[in-house]
Amino acid sequence: MVTDHFDVIIVGGGPVGMALAISLHERGISSLLLEAQGLPEQVKDPRPLALSYGSHLILQRLGVWSTLSQITPITTIHISNRDHFGRTVLTSKDAGVPTLGYVVNYYDLYRSMHQLLQIHSANYRVGATVTIIKTTPKQAQVEYQQAGENKQAIAKLLVLADGGRLATQIEGINYHTHKYHQWAIVANIQTSVPQNGIAYERFTSEGPIALLPSGDGFALVWTVPFATAEAILSLDDNTFLTQLHHHFGDRLGEFISTGKRSGFPLALTYASPTIALRIALVGNAAQTLHPVAGQGFNLGLRDAWELANEIVQSSALTSEIGSSRMLRTYANKRQIDRDAGKLFTHSLAKIFVSDLPLLQTFCGMGLNVLDCLPPLKRFVARRMIFGARG
Ligand SMILES: Cc1cc2nc3c(=O)[nH]c(=O)nc-3n(C[C@H](O)[C@H](O)[C@H](O)COP(=O)(O)OP(=O)(O)OC[C@H]3O[C@@H](n4cnc5c(N)ncnc54)[C@H](O)[C@@H]3O)c2cc1C
Repeated sequence: MVTDHFDVIIVGGGPVGMALAISLHERGISSLLLEAQGLPEQVKDPRPLALSYGSHLILQRLGVWSTLSQITPITTIHISNRDHFGRTVLTSKDAGVPTLGYVVNYYDLYRSMHQLLQIHSANYRVGATVTIIKTTPKQAQVEYQQAGENKQAIAKLLVLADGGRLATQIEGINYHTHKYHQWAIVANIQTSVPQNGIAYERFTSEGPIALLPSGDGFALVWTVPFATAEAILSLDDNTFLTQLHHHFGDRLGEFISTGKRSGFPLALTYASPTIALRIALVGNAAQTLHPVAGQGFNLGLRDAWELANEIVQSSALTSEIGSSRMLRTYANKRQIDRDAGKLFTHSLAKIFVSDLPLLQTFCGMGLNVLDCLPPLKRFVARRMIFGARG
């Protein structure tokens, strides 16, 4: 079997793995990206991604931003709690940034990155499924199958960006899972009140519902209990829109039309630790979050950005890429941001669904206090945009 050698092998060409591969390629680090699925035409995923202003800056530096076909700015976030008092409005002015973020489509982002990797002739292999990973103190080795052939590659560092499938093979890395018993239902929606840059995050006793400005309408992320998800997905369009309107309320007028609906089961899953001998985890492989507040990809992109910086720095200092020292520095730098992301989304997903009246009163007071205190708003908004370091 022929063996290829690289500085870095990345397993998993989702948006986080591709962002890392683009970053390493443009900075002259030899890397191989292995992605199990076929060409992106087959990766039809309707989910919207709310990207923070910080992610926009990273994607701009990677040359991805200008290739996206539809980008909808979020200028304001309106947060409310259904059937309870309390609301907060966050604006870009509160955060001191030109805009709070943008909504893009997952598939569009995937396709743009895929094309960029091809244009730059990066070592990017699709239809390549990694089956075995092995590490020694000196190197990491992967075996993968592509077009019916078994292949092998060796690198100083192996990055797992595979959503968390392979890390279970690694001794010392444990996964912790909290199932929410909820699904997210995603669809494009038109309402009689046109979108004007406001993202709505509404907490309900069944879970949060978000309507994000997208094109000339809204991208819906509706959290529903596991038991009712299938039934809601199979409703006819009119009944679905009526139920959605009833659930969300009248703020956006009539709910006029819906696109294709898709459902995603929700859980918090995270690895501990996120490094091992010659191995680093990024993106969903390190932590998969509840989509409330749209933090998952933003956090994963910061993983990729920080890891690329550590790799480039190690290479420039001629200290070794993938050494335990480099990996510890990477893990330490990411720790607070990751913990904050997990805590923030998990708390939002759990607290607002509680039926304890006292807790709901407390939540309502919290939203109102946040609304009245500009420095606190700025603190919260900047952490949502730039991560724990704000
Ligand atoms: C409904 C919903 C809404 C969301 N909204 C937002 C949002 O608004 N903002 C936000 O920031 N985040 C959001 N997220 C989270 C975001 O989608 C994820 O965090 C992000 O897609 C993770 O990207 P990733 O590249 O780490 O992993 P993935 O997208 O899971 O990619 C992993 C890749 O690895 C490949 N792979 C797996 N095993 C192998 C193998 N053995 N060999 C080779 N390749 C392999 C897979 O084919 C896949 O392409 C949302 C999530 C959901 C479910």
